[in-house]
Amino acid sequence: MSRTKDRSKTKNFRQLLKQAKSIPEPVLKKLVKQKYHIIGNHSAVKMCGWTGKKIKGGIACYKNAFYGIESHRCIQSTPVLLFCNHACVFCWRMMPEESLILNKPAFSDTPAPEFEWDKSEAIVDQFISAHRKTVSGFGGSSLVGKTLFKEANDPKHVALSLTGEPTMYPYLSDLLSEFHKRGISTFLVTNGTFPEAIEKWETLPTQLYVSLVAPNKEVYLKAIRPISPILWEKYMKTLAMFPELGKKTRTVLRMTLTRNVNTAPIEGYIEQILIAKPHYAEVKSMVFVGGSRNPSRGLSFDSMLSMDEIREYAKKLADATGYLVAAEHIPSRIVLLCRDKEAVKKRLIDFKFLFPNAKTSS
Ligand code: SF4
Repeated sequence: MSRTKDRSKTKNFRQLLKQAKSIPEPVLKKLVKQKYHIIGNHSAVKMCGWTGKKIKGGIACYKNAFYGIESHRCIQSTPVLLFCNHACVFCWRMMPEESLILNKPAFSDTPAPEFEWDKSEAIVDQFISAHRKTVSGFGGSSLVGKTLFKEANDPKHVALSLTGEPTMYPYLSDLLSEFHKRGISTFLVTNGTFPEAIEKWETLPTQLYVSLVAPNKEVYLKAIRPISPILWEKYMKTLAMFPELGKKTRTVLRMTLTRNVNTAPIEGYIEQILIAKPHYAEVKSMVFVGGSRNPSRGLSFDSMLSMDEIREYAKKLADATGYLVAAEHIPSRIVLLCRDKEAVKKRLIDFKFLFPNAKTSS
C-alpha cells in the first residue's frame, strides 16, 4: 500500500483545479508532483536547482557568472505554462508526445481565441509569494546561512523561461513593468515567433533572449517541429528587429546545441548572429533532462556536447562573426560571446542603478 499521499484528493488540489481551468487534471497532477506552484489560470513558479544550491552556500548559475544575477534571489517562472507553438526535441518540458507521434492534438498546445488571460497586476505579487513558498523549506536548515535565506526571501530577479512561449501572454509588457516597479530585473526567453507582439511592447525586459535553435529552415522543421512552417519566417523577422531592440535593452541569442540534431551547418548560425547583432551569444549544449529523455525524442546522454566541443564551436563562431569569447561556465556547458569590447565591459549588470524609483517587494 503506497504511503505517498495522493495530492489529487486534497482540498488544495481541488481548489487548484477550479482556479487553473486551462490545465487538464492529469497534467496538473504531474505539475504539482514536480513542485510547480500554479498561479492564476495559466502561470507558474518552480524553484530552479541553482537557487537551491546557492541558498545552501553552493555555486551559482551561469547567469551569475556572466551577468551578475543573484541565483538565490531569482524567481524561475512562466506566464504561459502549457502553451507553445514549438516542440523542440531537446526541450525538457512536458509535451503532448502522443499527439506529436500521431500528429493529432491530444490537447491543444496553443490557446483558443477566447482564452481567459489573467491581468498582470492580479498575478505579479503571486509570483513573489510563490517564490517565497519554494524557498521557505530552507528556513530551518542548519546548512543555510541567515543572510542568504533572508535575501532569498527578497527576490531581485525573475527569469521568464520556465516552460511555454511567454509572448503568447497578451499582458507581458505590463507584467515586465510591474516587476520593474518592484525593483525586480527581468530576463525573458522567447522563441521569437511573435514579432508582432514584441513590436507593441512599451516595456522591454532587462535582457531579451531569443532561442537560436536551428541553422536553417530544413533543420528547424525537423528538430523544432513548429505548428506551422511559416513560423520560420516570423522568427527571422524577430532576428531582423534585434539591432533596433538592442538600442533599448540588452539582447541575447541562446543556442541549445544537440549532437546529430542541430549543430550543422554552422554557417546558418553565423548568418543569424550577423543579422541580429545581439550584445551576447550563448553557445550552450542541450542538457539530457526531463522531457528530453522521452524515448520518442531519440536522444541520449551522447546528444550533449562536451565542454571542449562547446569551446571549439564557440571559437569558430567568434572567428567568423568577430565576436569575443568572454566567459564560460563548465557545469552548464556554455561559453559566452560578446559583440564587442563595450559589451564585454557592460556584461555584469549594475543592479544598484537599474530601478532607482522602485518600491521593493521586501
Ligand atoms: S537565472 Fe535561470 S539558471 Fe539562474 S537561478 Fe534563475 S532560473 Fe536558475
